[in-house]
Amino acid sequence: MNYKSTRGSAAVSASAAIVKGLAPDGGLYVPESFPALEGVSTFVGLSYRERAKKVLSAFLRDFTPEEVDHCVEKAYTAEKFGSDEIAPMHRLSSTAHVLELWHGPTCAFKDMALQILPHLLTVSMRKSGIRDEVAILVATSGDTGKAALEGFRDVDGTRVLVFFPRDGVSNIQRKQMVTQEGKNVGVAAVEGNFDDAQNGVKSIFTDAEYNAFLKENGIVLSSANSINWGRLVPQIVYYVSAWVSLVEKGEIKEGESFNVVVPTGNFGNILAAYYAKKMGVPIARLICASNANDVLTEFISTGVYNRKRDFHLTISPSMDILISSNLERFLYDISGEDSEKVSGWMEELKTDGEYHVDADTLSKMQEILWAGSCDDAETLDTIRETYEKYAYLADTHTAVALRVYDNYVKKTGDAAVTVIASTASPYKFGQSVLGAISENVPEDDFEILEEIEKESGLPVPKALGELRTKPERFGMTCPPDKMRDAVKTLLDL
Ligand SMILES: *Cc1c(COP(=O)(O)O)cnc(C)c1O
Repeated sequence: MNYKSTRGSAAVSASAAIVKGLAPDGGLYVPESFPALEGVSTFVGLSYRERAKKVLSAFLRDFTPEEVDHCVEKAYTAEKFGSDEIAPMHRLSSTAHVLELWHGPTCAFKDMALQILPHLLTVSMRKSGIRDEVAILVATSGDTGKAALEGFRDVDGTRVLVFFPRDGVSNIQRKQMVTQEGKNVGVAAVEGNFDDAQNGVKSIFTDAEYNAFLKENGIVLSSANSINWGRLVPQIVYYVSAWVSLVEKGEIKEGESFNVVVPTGNFGNILAAYYAKKMGVPIARLICASNANDVLTEFISTGVYNRKRDFHLTISPSMDILISSNLERFLYDISGEDSEKVSGWMEELKTDGEYHVDADTLSKMQEILWAGSCDDAETLDTIRETYEKYAYLADTHTAVALRVYDNYVKKTGDAAVTVIASTASPYKFGQSVLGAISENVPEDDFEILEEIEKESGLPVPKALGELRTKPERFGMTCPPDKMRDAVKTLLDL
């Protein structure tokens, strides 16, 4: 099975799609067809790693079984993820189950993909006969950057360069990045928001002259952003695994469906759930939760995608996004793989800042998705209420999902079992989380960590605690139109 572009250019193998990241026509790679999962019983009793191998080999058709095994075994270890469960489920009630995706080395869900991507990429490079060094260029709203740095650090044949919006990440997120260790890493702040950083990276990828210059220096660019197929495919695994766990624990019967709620930014995580559904995981409703940047909520209810609106900096910054890149893959799928239509919409988005999908596409979208949003005050209320009611401490992103789920149940009365994706440790956004449950919020980020531990009894993750004394290595700041120069500097060219 090969991978074609959402904008219509020719199909390539899985390994080529992973090496390229973005298709040459600016579109995103999608599988030509979706493999059907074997029944749930074939997964019951298997470890997360074994489940991952089955799902990944169905998509990575030009990888040998040994290559898939190697990637999975390197990535999903108990050492890196705290236990062999990798993505444990926490039962809040008979209907609400929290899927914790943040037990990896950076305490956020991006690790689920970025611990395995470097291995998928190095295998893919070997298969594609590439001898150049691959430089991973990342625009991050916070968590991807750190997770990419951590995943790629000191992986032979790779470099990793991260751009983050100067005013759009938390102090801990910034510290995690600028203290990064490793001999192949680089970090710079961009004067602008996430979309500025992402547009800067995209324009570098499509700049032929600049890429030729890099190539002369033995470097090819690739992307670790959630547009890379190698990022997306590992995310399908945890929805399959969540389904199997629900059946194993008797929370649902074989064949019974469930809902999934995802706190959404770039639309990667929720798209992986949709792809799991296409493979046969019985997901009934997919609920798309947004913060005050509610462009997706409006789009899913009206069919009008309009990015010409105020950009809000919220307490769930990893979802502060006005252009959700992976939505393109979803639209491609539900429009019957109409690359002309999709290209048109993306062109309108670029030139007019908005597009309207047709009635057919809108109704297909609404069959699958339900959308809602909440503001910061509601997010904080939800953290407090969840803590009081269930003694469960949710981070700000997860709280957005919990709130939107609550609104969904109130509106629809749907009592189906529901999996709520939890995307970050409560420690990662400690200031907001502590403020929601306690009067006593210290100024200092590290005292906040200690205070949360005292209050909740959850131990401070080691990787966050040790940031306190780590020296900062990277202080570069650049305007969005000077990112090409920053790349050169960071690559020593
Ligand atoms: C990246 C991220 C999200 C958004 O995920 P998308 O795949 O971009 O929709 C939500 N929460 C956290 C903590 C994240 O890091």
